[in-house]
Amino acid sequence: MSSPAKPAVKTYQNYINGQWVPAANGETFPVYDPSTEEVIAHVASSSAADVDKAAKAARAAFDSGAWPATTAQDRGRILFKIAGKIRQNLPMLAELECRNTGKPIVEAEYDIGDVATCFEYYGGLANKVTGNVMPVPANALSFTLREPVGVAGQIIPWNYPLLMAAWKLAPAIAAGCTCVLKPAEQTPLTAMEFASWLEEAGVPPGVVNIVNGAGEISGAALVAHPQVDKIAFTGSAAVGKLIVKSAADTLKRVTLELGGKSPNIFFADADWEAAVDGALFGVFINQGEVCSAGSRVLVEKKIYPKFVEAMTEKAKRIKLGPPLERDTKMGPLVSKEQYDRVSTYLEVGKKEAKTAIGGGRPKTFEKGYYVEPTIFYDVDNSARIAREEIFGPVASVIPFEHEADAIRIANDTPYGLAGAVWTRDIYKAFRIVKSMRAGIIWVNHMQPTYVEAPWGGYKQSGFGRELGPWGLEEYLETKQVFVNLDETPIGWY
Ligand code: NAP
Ligand code: MG
Repeated sequence: MSSPAKPAVKTYQNYINGQWVPAANGETFPVYDPSTEEVIAHVASSSAADVDKAAKAARAAFDSGAWPATTAQDRGRILFKIAGKIRQNLPMLAELECRNTGKPIVEAEYDIGDVATCFEYYGGLANKVTGNVMPVPANALSFTLREPVGVAGQIIPWNYPLLMAAWKLAPAIAAGCTCVLKPAEQTPLTAMEFASWLEEAGVPPGVVNIVNGAGEISGAALVAHPQVDKIAFTGSAAVGKLIVKSAADTLKRVTLELGGKSPNIFFADADWEAAVDGALFGVFINQGEVCSAGSRVLVEKKIYPKFVEAMTEKAKRIKLGPPLERDTKMGPLVSKEQYDRVSTYLEVGKKEAKTAIGGGRPKTFEKGYYVEPTIFYDVDNSARIAREEIFGPVASVIPFEHEADAIRIANDTPYGLAGAVWTRDIYKAFRIVKSMRAGIIWVNHMQPTYVEAPWGGYKQSGFGRELGPWGLEEYLETKQVFVNLDETPIGWY
């Protein structure tokens, strides 16, 4: 197949106060296509000075100007206009996301569709925010007002770039906050295209600012900034811990969506074909670069050898290929850094367990950060490949004896983002649902994610929830109002 024409290499500046502005130091950094290792764009490389400018613009837009005067209906309409722009530009955005992340084009199309749905959802929710009236004595009135938290700093990862931006921007706009978004340095491109429609959609200058650059510099400056009220972060637990420490100095509100090592549990009575599919889909979708990846595959001993064999046979059919080809099921990893990281774990895994399939770089590609879908089996839950998040296409298959054993292994992890159980026994399924210490549990499926349902983790997978009304709550303060209806003096003194 002839390769499609290469688009021009663009340079993207920061988007601050409704303007495109270069970084204060004039520097840019290159952005790559991980399937060709070629530079596809240059992006402003920001320092603390740029973050300061963006935070001040967001502060000013929150404190005065057009934004505080908007009604919830206005903000809802703006969100629907943004969603419309995304749907209109879906093929372009999906292609750009695909080129920049290496994810298969078909998956990128789903992602961008979900981006639009997210803006539509919060567009609808914007004017459904209400307070409460409390039953205080008859001579008084007590009620709550729900008000925006203020300036939100939002830091996102590279695995679902525009979708992670949407999960943060849409509820923030619905709530009436203003935002400074820091995309992942590997994948800022779709967010910058998105910024070009904000003005037309009716977003006033300063309400959404996007600042690019290295996490340790621009991300850290955003977390430390005294005029930022809240940080919403999605990324690794290691960076999450740094953020909590830094945010303590200014007592910012913090919500964290971190990593996981999620158990995908298979009982002997599960539907066989669906289970084998679910084990693979759970860990190989998006090249395994998924925070909720079912990277620990727990299999009942009765079916264990046959299950490992069936997974292996089916995994042979996973088509690795150029991300823009429609039959590609797995593209390259996002970056050289991630490729090296995953490759290190492959070597660790070969020592810690047995290899059923994969374990290295496919021979068919000269360029690109491709890694074979890899299945390690006879993994002990104490092994590094069972405890540490790999964030690549690597399954660690672990046998278990019975239900209690499965629960013990499932919960024996510092993480608690997600988990899944496959069985036709409804009693067992719901016992497992209640026993698992994780924020998201799937029964007879793994990964479906709907904007209507809450997303977030227990334990070291973070705190706070995104999506649904829960996601909006995180951008709201609660003001308690007491009104005295009794005109007589207190009479205390
Ligand atoms: P990461 O290294 O933690 O980076 C995430 C974001 O934080 C990036 O924008 C990064 O900037 C920035 N950052 C890095 N150091 C920072 C610092 N000191 N202060 C402030 N910001 C900083 O994670 P990643 O490797 O991009 O993404 C993979 C991780 O994200 C995995 O652990 C995965 O589980 C997690 N994740 C979780 C969810 C969820 O919903 N729970 C979803 C997706 C991903 P740079 O790009 O410049 O490094
Ligand atoms: Mg990084």
